[in-house]
Amino acid sequence: MTHQPALPTLAAADPEIAGLVEDEARRQHDKIRLIASENYVSRAVLEATGTVLTNKYSEGYAGKRYYEGQQNIDPVETLAIERAKALFGTDHANVQPYSGSPANLAAYLAFAKPGETVLGMALPDGGHLTHGWSVSATGKWFNAVRYGVRKETGRVDLDQVRDLAREHRPKLIFCGGTAIPRTIDFPAFAEIAREVDAVLVADIAHIAGLVAGGAHPSPVGHAQVITTTTHKTLRGPRGAMILSDAEHAKAVDKAVFPGLQGGPHNHTTAAIAVALGEAAKPEFGEYAHQIVANAKALAEALTERGYDLVSGGTDNHLLLVDLTNKEIGGKPAAQALDRAGIELNYNTVPFDPRKPFDPSGIRLGTGAITTRGLRPEHQPKVAEWIDRAITAAATDEQSTVDTVAAEIREFLGAYPIPGYTA
Ligand SMILES: *Cc1c(COP(=O)(O)O)cnc(C)c1O
Repeated sequence: MTHQPALPTLAAADPEIAGLVEDEARRQHDKIRLIASENYVSRAVLEATGTVLTNKYSEGYAGKRYYEGQQNIDPVETLAIERAKALFGTDHANVQPYSGSPANLAAYLAFAKPGETVLGMALPDGGHLTHGWSVSATGKWFNAVRYGVRKETGRVDLDQVRDLAREHRPKLIFCGGTAIPRTIDFPAFAEIAREVDAVLVADIAHIAGLVAGGAHPSPVGHAQVITTTTHKTLRGPRGAMILSDAEHAKAVDKAVFPGLQGGPHNHTTAAIAVALGEAAKPEFGEYAHQIVANAKALAEALTERGYDLVSGGTDNHLLLVDLTNKEIGGKPAAQALDRAGIELNYNTVPFDPRKPFDPSGIRLGTGAITTRGLRPEHQPKVAEWIDRAITAAATDEQSTVDTVAAEIREFLGAYPIPGYTA
């Protein structure tokens, strides 16, 4: 039993669950984890999430709660808020959203009415479900208009954003997404939003750690409202925050509670505060820049091996690879890679001719491997493993996949993770 912190009581009380947690800790240790939305949190963050704060109800906000006994919870939440405001340089922060999707729902509730028009990035082009995609509540309850990327460049088509904004006059414009390998031009979005009098929401879920660490431009001063998860590059617990200017603060708070949620998850709030404290340290700035350096090195190494990167490369933590020229779909490639010890997800690429459940691409991110200490000089090796596994999958050759998995396990022994000791 080697999960960290150790779980002796859980192992005695519920060996079935404890065993699965242990297996998951080992799995996270033994794989090159390239899922762009994942990371490894610190031991301190893990400890904070496993505390008695989970026992407490705290509907409301510090000083205005609907339950007694907030002597310790109020200062925890206030610390998280103050650290978020200081780290990102915003007037206001709400740290209560349960996750990224409810944080975005709160933005709709605050600034649009059902049936009103919103403008967001299309899911297949890199947007998030909650930016108005048809199967999402946000696409069903609002009149969602969608922009995309240019076919020639793979980059956001700002002319289309401007044209659609002028034509449809949305209440809300979302920028940011889940599969955008390039820098988001917040000033350009802000200019468009200003022209049509829309609230600009920057959803920085993927890049929050890069923004905090100075490795991506900040939306502050451009977007009135900023939503983010806390568990991706920011390297906190699963959770979310909404940051805003002073003018929009009250509407944001009212939308989160009582508009959308009941009691905040106080154990998560504490862990968010811890993660924000970590992100304020100079080492975190180095971490953020190292994430980008690793992604650029991996992009270069994959390009050398003939892989076709959407937009031709990356500015951030994320790579989107179109596998069409490798004659394998994203799904079989991702499955073979998982067997080979490389974990990522299949993904649509812009203008994908294949179906969303069996698309042409794979998405990779370097947040987690950078936490582990992998550096740019390791990326040619990572690219070689990826290439060998994909080539083996295309030719149905299982022994290569097994060899790669063994090589990776051996290699990763030198790169410990916070939640496990081998
Ligand atoms: C991850 C993500 C979300 C949603 O976060 P969940 O915590 O999974 O609900 C929202 N927006 C973007 C851009 C994301 O990448």
